[in-house]
Amino acid sequence: MGWISSDNEHEGWAACVAPDGRLSSSSSGEGMLIEGVSGRYKRDKLLPDYEIVPDAEMIGWRGACNCGWQGEMWQRVASPADADFSRRRGYVPMEGFADASREVEDAIHEEWKAHIAPSEAILGVAAAAREHSQAGQRLDKTVAAAKAAGASWADIGRAVGISRQSAHERWADKQ
Ligand SMILES: [Zn+2]
Repeated sequence: MGWISSDNEHEGWAACVAPDGRLSSSSSGEGMLIEGVSGRYKRDKLLPDYEIVPDAEMIGWRGACNCGWQGEMWQRVASPADADFSRRRGYVPMEGFADASREVEDAIHEEWKAHIAPSEAILGVAAAAREHSQAGQRLDKTVAAAKAAGASWADIGRAVGISRQSAHERWADKQ
């Protein structure tokens, strides 16, 4: 049910919001599983630090991420007529599971993607920097080989696209 970022640093999901503001971690047959013990709800048998809050009590939905990020609130309304996507109001029947509708879940997924966009973009920079460094090492090796084979600094400079003087300054000490 979760969404994972490419670097595995973020795991997001569309959480249900309990009346006290806590977010659901997952659902169970009896209700939503919510971390923390308020004393107002039944504790989960397997996870004693979690309570089971009935689906009918859920007041809305929010994006959640294991890094602590939370999206804006999507309010749960009591009837289909009150639903209004543009005002972040969604409807699901009171009987049955309280999970967000597909439309709201998709919107929350988009919000979570915007949350991780900077770290996803940084991955591209990191990959390019690695390639840049590897290419630099290859350049040093090929220059050394060319010099050993008898090429002049002028030849090397021309091949690299810099002046003879620059080529000499850059690689003479490495010979
Ligand atoms: Zn995150």
